[in-house]
Amino acid sequence: MTSPRKKARIHWGEEGSSGKQKGVSALQKQREQLPIAKGKEALIREISDNNVIILLGETGSGKTTQVPQYILESGMADTGIIAVTQPRRVAATSLAARVAAEQGVAVGGLVGYSVRFDEACSANTRIKYVSDGMLVRELLSDPLLSRYSVIVVDEAHERTLRTDFLIANLKTIQEKRNGANDVKGKRAASNLNPLKIVIMSATLDAEKFSRFYNHARVLYVKGRQHSVQIYHTAVSQTDYVDAALRTFFQIHTDKPPGDVLIFLPGQEDIESLDKSIKLYARRLPEERMSVVVCPMYASLPPTQQARIFSPTPPNTRKCILSTNIAETSITIPGIRYVIDTGKCKEKRYLSKDTGGGFDTLLTRDITKSSAMQRAGRAGREGPGFCFRLYTEDAFTSMALSAEPEIRRCSLTQSLLQLKCLGQDLEAVEFMDRPNVEAIYSALKTLWLLSALDNAKNLTPLGRQMASFPVEPYLARIILASREHGCASEVIDIVSLISSSSNPFVDISDQRDAIADARRKFRHPSGDHMTMLNALRSYQDVATTENKSGRKEWCRQHFVNERTFVEALKIRDQLRLTCGRLGMDWRTTRADNDEAILRCFVAGLVQQSAFLQPDGSYKQTIGQAAVKIHPGSILCEKKVPAIIYDELVYTSQIYARGVSSVPKSFFTAVTPSSKQS
Ligand code: ADP
Ligand code: MG
Repeated sequence: MTSPRKKARIHWGEEGSSGKQKGVSALQKQREQLPIAKGKEALIREISDNNVIILLGETGSGKTTQVPQYILESGMADTGIIAVTQPRRVAATSLAARVAAEQGVAVGGLVGYSVRFDEACSANTRIKYVSDGMLVRELLSDPLLSRYSVIVVDEAHERTLRTDFLIANLKTIQEKRNGANDVKGKRAASNLNPLKIVIMSATLDAEKFSRFYNHARVLYVKGRQHSVQIYHTAVSQTDYVDAALRTFFQIHTDKPPGDVLIFLPGQEDIESLDKSIKLYARRLPEERMSVVVCPMYASLPPTQQARIFSPTPPNTRKCILSTNIAETSITIPGIRYVIDTGKCKEKRYLSKDTGGGFDTLLTRDITKSSAMQRAGRAGREGPGFCFRLYTEDAFTSMALSAEPEIRRCSLTQSLLQLKCLGQDLEAVEFMDRPNVEAIYSALKTLWLLSALDNAKNLTPLGRQMASFPVEPYLARIILASREHGCASEVIDIVSLISSSSNPFVDISDQRDAIADARRKFRHPSGDHMTMLNALRSYQDVATTENKSGRKEWCRQHFVNERTFVEALKIRDQLRLTCGRLGMDWRTTRADNDEAILRCFVAGLVQQSAFLQPDGSYKQTIGQAAVKIHPGSILCEKKVPAIIYDELVYTSQIYARGVSSVPKSFFTAVTPSSKQS
């Protein structure tokens, strides 16, 4: 029997001792067998003849990895770089690795990537995988994106705020570079290097994108989709993690070999299911196939993410636990069974009346289009099965597709970036218009941060804030440190806040042991200074201990080494930005927590609460009562005023990353004109 699975398992980087040559030719063979390869010539012709192309195709058909290589090989992009945008940074970095391998080169040369806080590019780079946010950032220094001759906007159906921002701006950029109304491939009178745009997606309202780009041409790649048998539960499941566990072992005991992909909303659920599957797998009879579990989520270190692509050992079933990152951005070979919990995390702006004022991640039901994508993952290489942990009625009543982020997320950063480009949010032609309340709220936030003046004009401070690769409020904190002479401490803390995970491990049933172990970092003012102390202690340990010593120290102190390593990398970037602005990041006032906290108040004006006579805390701007998170070192304390990094919504509204500050600090940053 010739198994199609075996073919797909020929894996780059896994080739045997016979060297690179064999690996590359195996990869070339694999490339030629992708569904998109059949239409290569036609595709190149269409892209060459049209300035905008909308390309639709099944996940795994080869769009993201092949289209940029086809464009490169055709010579069409000889005057500039080919950029391919991705909503997720892991997708950008892993795709660059894959395409570099297909080209037989190292990442960072011909093929590179650029994501926030990390880059692998050189003067020779011709294909660049970038996060959509990075390309938006590049607009600020190069408003016509003149270095690029082709921009491929990938995963457009996700409609992230940044992708929508790019789609809107690319339209005007193309008009400027190619000459207005020139939808066909003809060169306009301008002497600028013309721009081509390719919009790609697995599922997408193609008509809408086409209309937006003056009825641009839509092309379809036919995928190789096998039938997928779909099962729904008879009754709805209250505990989807438990239901996923039971379903997995039903498959494992009853069904023939084939890997399993389980979709879960987030990291916490993935970690908990990972543990339970391993626990039960150990009790399986010896003669059964063994189980290997691979988690996959955005903040997982790349080396661990790479495990999902490695071939499954003989007599083993691989079980991948993933967020919606595996829905379309990445294709995993070998999957025959999909378990869909029907949940995902969605970024949503919480309006000030509900205690918000910024974005938070909420677990919610997926949409019909997600459910179909998820099921499709089982039919890539042969007939497959999808087990939905929800009823058929629940599926029928799902929304068709998700609301674009521009309609549900905070617009503060985008508004600031547009202001830097001399544009107004109200005036830009977006595919979907943001709502008025969200625009007003963003304007108010930027004004409170002194990025805008009373006439809504960008201030010099606002322009400097936009230079930092972090949210405006964090940039404001860094810039405030100029006044207070403590840039070094402030940047360390902001780097920790910007990391993808918390430096402190929080295990609810071990809080006493944790508090004990952390005593030496503890600072009476709260979590910000405590975090700083922890980072500084870690750095001391890092200079004297080897890898295993550091690891052990982190374990004993219940801190995440990964967060520290990431924070130090982020710190380098923030220092570089300071340098570019002529700001000295070396200033330090090590023992002056007052100076440091004053900087935080400047950025966290909206993230603050005052103690009420009844012992609760009430937001200073907004109406909600907030509690201090049990993981905070201030959780038992009653202090007159607090500032916090974020609010988390569970049964209550909790403030996380909390420090106590004197009330008088607030009057210094909110002059009377700002009290409206
Ligand atoms: P699309 O963008 O149409 O979803 P891709 O271009 O991302 O498709 O992927 C095409 C094929 O390349 C996949 O089906 C898979 O076999 C292979 N592939 C892509 N990335 C990797 C990787 N990191 N490791 C192994 N194979 C990969
Ligand atoms: Mg793709």
